[in-house]
Amino acid sequence: MSIEAATLYVVATPIGNLGDWTARAREVVAAVDVVAAEDTRHTAALLAHFGIRAQLLSLHEHNEEARIHTLLERLQGGASVALVSDAGTPLISDPGYRLVAAVRAAGLRVTPVPGPSALTAALSVSGLPTDRFVFEGFLPARSASRRERLTAIADETRTLVFYESAHRIHDSLHDMAEVFGPAREAVVARELTKTFEEIAADRLGGLLNWIVGNEYRQKGEFVVLVHGAEPVERELLDDRDLRTLTTLAAELPLKQAVRLATAITGRPKNLLYERALQLRSESPTEE
Ligand code: SAM
Repeated sequence: MSIEAATLYVVATPIGNLGDWTARAREVVAAVDVVAAEDTRHTAALLAHFGIRAQLLSLHEHNEEARIHTLLERLQGGASVALVSDAGTPLISDPGYRLVAAVRAAGLRVTPVPGPSALTAALSVSGLPTDRFVFEGFLPARSASRRERLTAIADETRTLVFYESAHRIHDSLHDMAEVFGPAREAVVARELTKTFEEIAADRLGGLLNWIVGNEYRQKGEFVVLVHGAEPVERELLDDRDLRTLTTLAAELPLKQAVRLATAITGRPKNLLYERALQLRSESPTEE
C-alpha cells in the first residue's frame, strides 16, 4: 500500500476482538516510518499477533508535549507517522489531541484510519435515541465532583454517553440514579466485542440492582448510556396574569408582588418570580 510522506495517520485499533482490526489499519501501521503508541508494550503485543514489525515511540498523557517536538521534526523531514492508542480510536478519552492540533497547525497532513470505538459500538446497540447524543467521557473520580457534573447535565435532552471503569461503575450508577432519578432509562454496555459482553437495558434503579446482584458484572470495561431528560415545556403567562404581575411589581417590593400575584393568579411562584425579575431589569430605574 502507498503511504504518503510527511503525514500523520490516526489509526483505530480493536476494543477487544482482534478480528475487528481493519486491513487498512494493519497495512498503514506496517508501512509507516514510526508508530506513536500510548503504551508501546501493549501495541507491540498487538503488532506481534499480526506479525507486524514497526518502530514504536511512546506517546502518552505525560509525555505528549515533549513528543510533539520530536514527531513534528520527523514529519517535517518527510517521515510518515501512525498514532495508535491501547484500544479504540485515538483522542476519544485517549491521548493525541495536542499532537493532532500541532501537526495541523504546522500545515502538515493528518488523515484518519477509522475503526472501532467503544462510544459508537455502545450507541449502535443501545436502543436509545442516537440522532443526537452527548459524549461525557469519564466522570470525575470524587463523588462530590461527580454529582456536581451530573447535576449540571440533568436537564440535557440528548442521549448521554459515559465511559466508566470497573472500580467506579457501582458508585457512578448509584450517583446517576440519585441525580437523574431511578426511573430514567439507561443502558450499561460491558466488555463489548469480548467473550463476556453484556448489554443491559433498564431504568437506572434496575441497573444499579443488576450491577450489585453479581460481583462479576462489576469487572471489565463499561459504557453507560442514559436517555436524555424529557424536554420541559416553558410555561408562559397569559396577558391577564402578566398584567396582574406588572401592576403589583410596579407598586410593591418584588417578593411581596410575587406572593400576591401567586395567590391571585394561581400560577407557579417560580415562574412569576422569574418574570418579575425580568420586568424589573427591563424597566428604567427611577430617579
Ligand atoms: N479510545 C477508546 C475508544 O475509542 O473507545 C477509549 C479509551 S478509554 C481510555 C477506555 C474506556 O473506554 C474504558 O474505561 C471503557 O469505559 C471504554 N471501553 C473501551 N473498551 C471497551 C469495551 N470493550 N467495552 C466497553 N467499554 C469499553
